[in-house]
Amino acid sequence: MSIANVDLPVPGSALPDALDRSRGIDLHLHSNASDGVLAPGDLVDLCHARGLTHLALTDHDTLEGVAEARRRCERHGIRLLSASELSCQWRGIAIHVVALLPRGASPAFEAKLEVLAEARRTRAREIAHRLEKIGLDDGLARARREAGSERPLGRPDFAAALVTAGLVPDRKTAFKRYLGAGKRGDVKTHWPLMESVVGWIRDAGGVAVIAHPLRYGMTRRKRDLLFSAFIKAGGEAAELVSGYQNPDATFDLARQLDFHGLYGSLGSDFHYPGGALAPGTISPPPRSHVKPIWRHPALHAFASGA
Ligand code: AMP
Ligand code: MN
Ligand code: MN
Ligand code: MN
Repeated sequence: MSIANVDLPVPGSALPDALDRSRGIDLHLHSNASDGVLAPGDLVDLCHARGLTHLALTDHDTLEGVAEARRRCERHGIRLLSASELSCQWRGIAIHVVALLPRGASPAFEAKLEVLAEARRTRAREIAHRLEKIGLDDGLARARREAGSERPLGRPDFAAALVTAGLVPDRKTAFKRYLGAGKRGDVKTHWPLMESVVGWIRDAGGVAVIAHPLRYGMTRRKRDLLFSAFIKAGGEAAELVSGYQNPDATFDLARQLDFHGLYGSLGSDFHYPGGALAPGTISPPPRSHVKPIWRHPALHAFASGA
């Protein structure tokens, strides 16, 4: 056996044992393979410039950007997890589950992504139909122009179309009035159940992570029920910190993850440069007993740099 095959820790490359001592890690990032602005390669360059060493590209319902990101990561010596942020629903609430896929995608998983792409296409037609009633004509074509590519459309594309059509002053208002949770353009009936999505991830040898648990407008009690259902389905982790978070809320979330025995993940949920968030920007994780996601046995190679 050559020395290069011996599985020894590489100096400086092993990740810390605690979430509050993590540096250089961002496991929630978007490229223009979904609703991010940067091409995957440019995103990776930016991450490198910001000193990041361990990444997951988590575009919505797709792995399209991963190959390009991986080529660029290899150039910089950055570790990359194949990943995707999957849309699903639980008790009528749209939930995002990050699939971390250390083994990459199986053919079965790719087939499920096609199911999600089709759900997105059907949903886009319905959103366009609903927005006609508030004066957005030809919404599907307008959203397509805003997307600037053939990727499946998302609500941000409709938000941009509403702005361009002069129906709202900015995208934030578009979500607030028409596309946000509970508004007429918030169509979630096409998404699969959370339990199914977690099963797809497990079957592909992946780790399922509840994305931004504080962003669903749930009470703590409701979040307990969500976590219980998620764990019953085979889920194992949740994001302890997503971008900027209130420190008290994060501290309490850490207690909740610890109680449920969930691993904790971290990510900026970066979409575009020039906003409040950059890759690697998150509120500092509190000291806690929550185990870092990179201590999950399936992520050993990713974490060790092997
Ligand atoms: P979709 O996946 O098509 O349902 O779109 C969801 C995406 O819209 C999220 O991933 C965010 O990028 C964006 N988004 C959601 N809520 C808002 C909001 N209130 N303001 C701006 N962007 C939002
Ligand atoms: Mn998004
Ligand atoms: Mn999300
Ligand atoms: Mn996201």
